[in-house]
Amino acid sequence: MQAEKDKIKSDIKSLLPGELQAELTAMGEPKFRAKQVFRWLARGVRSFEEMTDLPKSLREKLGEAFFLTPPTVERKQVSAIDGTVKYLWRLGDGNRVESVVMRYEHGNTVCVSTEVGCAMGCAFCASTLGGKVRNLAASEILDQVIFSELDSGCKISNIVLMGIGEPLDNFDSVLRFLRLVNDPDGMNIGMRHISLSTCGLAEKIDKLAQLDLQLTLSVSLHAPDNETRSKIMPVNRAYDVETLLAACRRYFERTGRRISFEYAMIRDVNDTPAHAKLLGDRLAGTGCHVNLIPLNDVPESALKPSTPETLRRFIASLEKRGINVTVRRKLGPDIEASCGQLRRGMEKKEK
Ligand code: SAH
Repeated sequence: MQAEKDKIKSDIKSLLPGELQAELTAMGEPKFRAKQVFRWLARGVRSFEEMTDLPKSLREKLGEAFFLTPPTVERKQVSAIDGTVKYLWRLGDGNRVESVVMRYEHGNTVCVSTEVGCAMGCAFCASTLGGKVRNLAASEILDQVIFSELDSGCKISNIVLMGIGEPLDNFDSVLRFLRLVNDPDGMNIGMRHISLSTCGLAEKIDKLAQLDLQLTLSVSLHAPDNETRSKIMPVNRAYDVETLLAACRRYFERTGRRISFEYAMIRDVNDTPAHAKLLGDRLAGTGCHVNLIPLNDVPESALKPSTPETLRRFIASLEKRGINVTVRRKLGPDIEASCGQLRRGMEKKEK
């Protein structure tokens, strides 16, 4: 019955400030109310009742027209080693997604999910094993930031869209989320403090470029040639390496923002000297940045991480070509902090 009622209500937290104002004006409310309500939403209220400086009648009217479905913490793990906090959230409909709060010297970063599951099918990734269940609403992405901050007590200054899901496959909600989290009356997190990671949906990269946002685009490249890339990333069969890199070039030309390429080092798959050389050929002189990721072991996958010696040689080969290379530090090694693993673990247990 409650679910039936909620169906005709709408999702207030996904509304942009202008849309919220239009809704409230249509309800006969003065203009300033929208800002008041928007601010309450960003503070993480769990009900309209908590908006204590609104007239009771308005709180009731809001409750009749809109729903609020704040997530609850289903599991929380705190790393004893580096303080990384990992959340498994339970959403309004019982689905689950993960977020991770990482503490860095330059500020705390939250990694958020954009979909329940993922349709992209990358061979090394735990998030995609059960396929995609649904898109997240903008409000559900935003709530991961708001409630991670509230629960952990860590003021969040940076966001990475690198959790479960392919952000560009949920383009409209992700864009709405970016606008909401960036709003001065909301979390007020600058676009330059946000990174979006994609497996390489080239057309959507072009669409994003047109918006000229100042966020950082990370592209999961993971192989410089089509043969290797198609084996580990099915998306490569739709947008091959040449098509993807051409879209990346256009993105840089249009936005002036340098792209960061992610490259998970997989033993004997994409880590040979020939791969390093070809990667160097493709990227030298483009000013981009390569972030090598030591592969996280996914129990369902036969793929293994590269040896430290191979990693060292790979780095040296790229650096010789003048490419800026970093290796992703593994945070929260004691708490399964890599994406998709906690949700996956829970879903398996229930079967
Ligand atoms: N769908 C987006 C964002 C999610 S994943 C994307 O593909 O970019 C964030 C990063 O983690 C991606 O670069 C992804 O390829 C990488 N990743 C996924 N599984 C991994 C694993 N087992 N080990 C290392 N990196 C992994």
